[in-house]
Amino acid sequence: MSQNKNGLSRRDVLKLSGLVAGSAAFNGAAATTAPASEGAPPTHQPFAYKGPAQPEPMPTGDDFLNHYRKRWTWDYTKRSTHFNNCAYQAHCAFEVYVRDGKVIREEQAATYTTLRKGLPDANPRGCQKGCGYSHLMQGEARLTRPLKRKGERGGGEWEEISWEQAIGEIAEKTVDILAREGSNSLVMDMGTTAEIGVTTFGAAMQFADATDCVLLDLNTEVGDDMQGAAITYGTIIGARTSDDVFHSDLVLCWSGNPAFTQIPNFHYLTEARYRGTQFVVISPDYNATAMHADHWVPVRSGTDTALALAICKIVIDEGLHDQDLLREQTDMPVLVRLDNKRYLRESDLKRDGSEEQLYFWDEGRNRLQELDTTSLRLNGHRPALEGVFEVETLDGLVKVQPVFERLKALVAAYTPEAASELCGTPPAIIRKLAHMIGKARAACNVESFALGKYHHGDLMMRAQILVFVLCGHLGRKGAGWTTGAAIVYPDALGRDVARRRTRKLTKKLNMRQWYELIRNNFQEKPMSRYAKRGLEDSWVDAKVSACATLFWNVHGGVSQVSNQPWDKTLPRAPEAYLEEALAKGWQGLEPPRDHTPKVFFQVGGNVLRRVRSSHKLLEVLWPKLELVVVTDMRMSSTVHHADYFLPVSGFYEKPNAGFYSGSMINAYAAQPVVPALGESRDEWEIYWMLANEIQKRAIARGLEGFIDRHQEKRRFDEFLGVYTMNGALGRNDVEKLCRQLIEKSSNLGGVKWEEISQRGYAPITSLGKSSNDSATDWKADETITPFIWHTRDKLPWNTLSGRIQFYIDHPWYLELGEELPAFKAPLKAGGDYPLMLNSGHARWSIHALQQSDSLMLRLQRGEPCLYMGVEDAKRRGIKDWDRVEVFNDVGRFRVRVKISPAIAPGMLMHYHAFEDYQYEGGVGSRVVMASPINPVELAGGSPYLQTPGHMRQPGMSDRDTRVEVRRL
Ligand code: SF4
Repeated sequence: MSQNKNGLSRRDVLKLSGLVAGSAAFNGAAATTAPASEGAPPTHQPFAYKGPAQPEPMPTGDDFLNHYRKRWTWDYTKRSTHFNNCAYQAHCAFEVYVRDGKVIREEQAATYTTLRKGLPDANPRGCQKGCGYSHLMQGEARLTRPLKRKGERGGGEWEEISWEQAIGEIAEKTVDILAREGSNSLVMDMGTTAEIGVTTFGAAMQFADATDCVLLDLNTEVGDDMQGAAITYGTIIGARTSDDVFHSDLVLCWSGNPAFTQIPNFHYLTEARYRGTQFVVISPDYNATAMHADHWVPVRSGTDTALALAICKIVIDEGLHDQDLLREQTDMPVLVRLDNKRYLRESDLKRDGSEEQLYFWDEGRNRLQELDTTSLRLNGHRPALEGVFEVETLDGLVKVQPVFERLKALVAAYTPEAASELCGTPPAIIRKLAHMIGKARAACNVESFALGKYHHGDLMMRAQILVFVLCGHLGRKGAGWTTGAAIVYPDALGRDVARRRTRKLTKKLNMRQWYELIRNNFQEKPMSRYAKRGLEDSWVDAKVSACATLFWNVHGGVSQVSNQPWDKTLPRAPEAYLEEALAKGWQGLEPPRDHTPKVFFQVGGNVLRRVRSSHKLLEVLWPKLELVVVTDMRMSSTVHHADYFLPVSGFYEKPNAGFYSGSMINAYAAQPVVPALGESRDEWEIYWMLANEIQKRAIARGLEGFIDRHQEKRRFDEFLGVYTMNGALGRNDVEKLCRQLIEKSSNLGGVKWEEISQRGYAPITSLGKSSNDSATDWKADETITPFIWHTRDKLPWNTLSGRIQFYIDHPWYLELGEELPAFKAPLKAGGDYPLMLNSGHARWSIHALQQSDSLMLRLQRGEPCLYMGVEDAKRRGIKDWDRVEVFNDVGRFRVRVKISPAIAPGMLMHYHAFEDYQYEGGVGSRVVMASPINPVELAGGSPYLQTPGHMRQPGMSDRDTRVEVRRL
């Protein structure tokens, strides 16, 4: 064994570093003890902002040479990456340098090969969080021993315990509650850290499978649900590879800040400009992306729909719209009854007629024509876009008109001058923008998850899509509005993991749907629209996952804040919509109202930091919980209020394999670079130990089984077998799990585990058998553009009309006047206050992960910070770095101010994900976020408008939060 110059072996160094990290645990925990009371002194210990960092004094002479040489010595290097949720760009290949058993630094591997001739390669991929990951993993924030709470929850007092004690006590309690009250009493949240790597995801899913616990689906809750795309395209999956922008002559970054959120991909945007591509940023603030753009278009926050409708009006008035594309790909020709605003259906024309057969008016033949939902081919028909027609129905003669006519009527009021009053964008700029988009050869957007965080973000998204489609930017290289969600998954995962959770999903499929599902699977075709509908129709009953927003609202007490009448225009009380949606089975609430959750497992997430109005969870949910367990590697806000903390190993300390997301073109995998610090363990082993102990203790107590969420009996003696897939994977088999994910996937060209993990990545070679909602081919030497199967092959979209659907005639959409993407002014959530509190993903942290890391805090101001415009600050007598209180009707928090000319009047910017204990008094910014539920997100019960996973469920919002600020 090698020794360092102090004579310590590598094992000694590891032991020592583990102990150091262990004692830091207590320091970190003790720093979080303050109650959240008004006026309490600061309890956090922020990194003090001292202005630009001063360089350390350099040694001189021989000392300098030795100092410098030492920096460039190491024992070995290995490839690895970071499996945290950096979404669009995960996971960049890194070279990790190790000396004396410790990671001394990491750097971008920069060995990506050129895939497409004439287009730039991916090098170098990485961001500052990745370049500093070893500091987080080995720094003062890392916890490496199991901890048990002493005293009150949140009191900050912990004791170190052994793994045996931790697992034993957690298992004992879990067995108690499972046997007594069934699976409905257990709830698991896999946070935004856990969703990316199979080591965390696989372990959590298998444990959820064994317990059959309520598994929260957080995609809508965090605002990544893309509700507008979900109902317009019928999917939220539709992503291009980042290099596809090289085929665009116009790129719109409309709501988003990729200079913060897509650091490894950002070079594609700037490099495309060398080919003459125009880059336009539309945003309320002059953000870090705007400074790299050719044009910046200011828009008042939350009013983008007005801007979009004005653009639509100009495009239509000047004949810049693509009529052929509208006729073929969209519902613009579909006929709507003028008397009840519903689509004309076959059931209107004949008794026992279909509710799903819709019509257009054939201009060529001058007659009504059935809409074909099996193909988009027009077969010689010419659907009318304009006109009013009369149709004989069961109700008598009824006037009908195409959706396009209704759209024209909607946009008529949105002259650039009128829209400017609403959105703040000068009329001349609106005109110029409309002409740029209308005349562009291929315009595309930069994907962003911002709009889902607005209450009316669905309308804003529908309106943005409308602008692009109206102008013919769809399903062509470099063209179209795309979502940025995943293109291709490693398909081995879905088949092997959490098999039992999904077994009820196909229960309600009819024979035709079954046939299509099986045929598609064997023939490796895209899943048919009809089979997909069957799966979506049975999602609520199947209980694969549960809507997190509903759980927090109903069981967590958030509805006490969210359900107030923040939207004065609603015709009914907010809770009336929720009650109706639940009563009709449009949405699923798990556990049911009459069942109390008792155990909460937090895997790789941080709900008390994440959930809007999360202080309610502490008041309402936490007292009901008999057991709160968090697996993490540091002291998060949620760990602070847990009963047990189980330390997980870092990304360089365990094998892992990654999921793919939209802008990525590779799969990623890693082997351990260094042993796990202290006693931390990988998630697969942790949950294996728990599953094993639960089975052992239940059998020892003579307990036979428990009642699962479908009211069926499960046997305790099968518990571990479910977790291990009938013994296929043992306690220390996390590498085998990762290997299987890679080697059994059909879209990685048969790459071996050793090869991919040593290189760090492997190209995706085909679509394989994975689901591909992006509806496009995969060719290694071409950029990926979504929706080609619709535009080229004429495959229908997954909507009622089989077309991109801008008109939704669900009764609730009609009731709320949202059948088309109408403009609605931003709510005043939290009360009638003058300032709109905006947020965004931070530059210096992936969600909360690095927000308390001193290395990243050095790059900013060292603690939570509110960006405020110059005039708003002056009017309130606020100077840079003053302490202020931000307040509204539902809460208040304290923070420092950064005065910035980039922030528009009436707006505040507070980048997200600081921990509560980093704020004065331990009170974080979510206390002011009322987050009312948008009723249309509860709508269901209509064909192709049901709730599947990840979308068409209610989400939370924060961008409409109104506040006032006062200087302290
Ligand atoms: S944190 Fe994410 S984006 Fe940054 S270097 Fe790592 S994998 Fe890349």
